[in-house]
Amino acid sequence: MKKKVIIIGAGISGLTAGVYAQRSGFDVTIYEQHNIPGGLSTSWSRKGYFFEGGMHWLTGSSPKLALNRVWKEVGALKENNPIYTREILSSVVGGGKDGGDLHLYRNAEKMRDHFLENAPEDRKAVMRLYRDTKAFQKVHLPINDLFGVKTTKPCHPSLWELVSMAGAGLKYPVLTKETFEHYVNRFSNPNIRHLLSSLIGSRYNALSFVYSMGAFSSGDCGFPQGGSLRMAQNMADTFTSLGGTISYRSKVQKVAVENGKACGVYLNGALVPADSVIVALDSRTAVDTMFEPRLEEKWISKLRGVTTEQNLFFGLGIEADLSKYPFSIILPLETPFNVGGNTYSNLRLYNYAAMPGYAPEGCSTLTCLVMGDFYDWWKAKKDEGTYRAEKEKALADFIKIIENAFPETKGKTAASDLATPCTYERYTASYKGSWMSVWGPGGSSFIFPSASKSVEGLYFASERNQMPGGLPICAWAGRKAAQCLCRDNSMTFNCGE
Ligand SMILES: Cc1cc2nc3c(=O)[nH]c(=O)nc-3n(C[C@H](O)[C@H](O)[C@H](O)COP(=O)(O)OP(=O)(O)OC[C@H]3O[C@@H](n4cnc5c(N)ncnc54)[C@H](O)[C@@H]3O)c2cc1C
Repeated sequence: MKKKVIIIGAGISGLTAGVYAQRSGFDVTIYEQHNIPGGLSTSWSRKGYFFEGGMHWLTGSSPKLALNRVWKEVGALKENNPIYTREILSSVVGGGKDGGDLHLYRNAEKMRDHFLENAPEDRKAVMRLYRDTKAFQKVHLPINDLFGVKTTKPCHPSLWELVSMAGAGLKYPVLTKETFEHYVNRFSNPNIRHLLSSLIGSRYNALSFVYSMGAFSSGDCGFPQGGSLRMAQNMADTFTSLGGTISYRSKVQKVAVENGKACGVYLNGALVPADSVIVALDSRTAVDTMFEPRLEEKWISKLRGVTTEQNLFFGLGIEADLSKYPFSIILPLETPFNVGGNTYSNLRLYNYAAMPGYAPEGCSTLTCLVMGDFYDWWKAKKDEGTYRAEKEKALADFIKIIENAFPETKGKTAASDLATPCTYERYTASYKGSWMSVWGPGGSSFIFPSASKSVEGLYFASERNQMPGGLPICAWAGRKAAQCLCRDNSMTFNCGE
């Protein structure tokens, strides 16, 4: 008889672990509290407008990378979601020389030449960014097999792959110490600063920024068409077609542990038995809520100390055609935007007007991601009873900014939505509604264990397993948890065709 495995959470980490474990010969059930798969990686509709509320780029979309093989093996990338790789990453409309647009090009040479043309005074900073970007083009997340696990298709980085990453390694010590803000502030041109400063959150180190620039310029980090929901649904379909079961609207209360072994989960007050359990909700939440008594292992105190990245997501459905504007617009603000206790001097907008399926004919969907540390601020408003009013005010202020910047949108907002960290917390139980971990200047990047050190048959798969997290870590962590499971049960890890 097949061994029974329970996975808690049908986010991208849980689905990855589920596909591999089911295919490797286990009988897997995923319990998901929500009624759809995907967790934080999600999209939704409002009054005929489609809001992409998760993925904006997918690391591993390039077939040159080993991670791409993982995305394909778990069914995330199929024929129904081909990759769209845009040449211009973002633009400041009218922010260039002589009133033209200032662009951040994906191609490193184009980026260098365009910046030098627009800001010759920033030659030193431009050349540094160019050299760093080139050095990091070859750096990517290595995918390898766990020691001692048998697999149908072994996967290890080649010596050449490791050697080609070594050059960038020399830059690590300097870049990890420097703040992202400091790196960007070397540019005196204010629009280049705006263009670069909203690529990642302001609390990260310069390495995280340069790493992203290298990945983009290598041709990776495209966008699978159909976005988050289609990708998650593809994975869920792959899992169920292998015989796995997803039980939606099923909130697990606790992991059952007996005599030092995971033996199932508690659901609606009853024990659902299993031979192994993979915890695939945010492990930062899980270590504090899923175990009675609390799980105490050495790494957990480090996990509790991790700084988390949160965001506000604004979505507008507008009865105006904005397709003449670029897809990703950086909007410098003359009057700073005060929201959630933070102040912003620019906004990163995503304009889906030219993409089919996001809005009714002649209309546009516009979204905006504002990153920061504001869970406590929004939570306090909830406790005070002013949360709704604050949300309405934030949305009204945001709409005013958009109307000032794009006068054709005045009075044309037909749908609007704002997700705060409290929204993300409610729907996914992620810690403080966060979606990544901040790798700050001078800090270390932790890798947390995939298998419990004290409880047999207990595994963790979450973007939190390795800083700074995000979708590539979900694939890496889900795969690793499934490999630990195979290793501990003397099963062959089956990668599929
Ligand atoms: C706005 C936004 C934009 C983003 N953009 C990108 C991007 O462009 N590129 C990128 O790489 N990453 C991006 N991310 C980050 C990425 O989406 C997340 O890192 C990733 O989805 C986390 O996946 P996960 O499976 O580890 O966790 P989650 O998505 O949190 O999944 C956990 C699942 O467990 C379920 N669950 C929780 N508790 C229970 C319980 N008790 N019982 C049953 N089920 C439970 C939840 O409902 C959820 O479905 C973005 C995130 C956001 C919010």
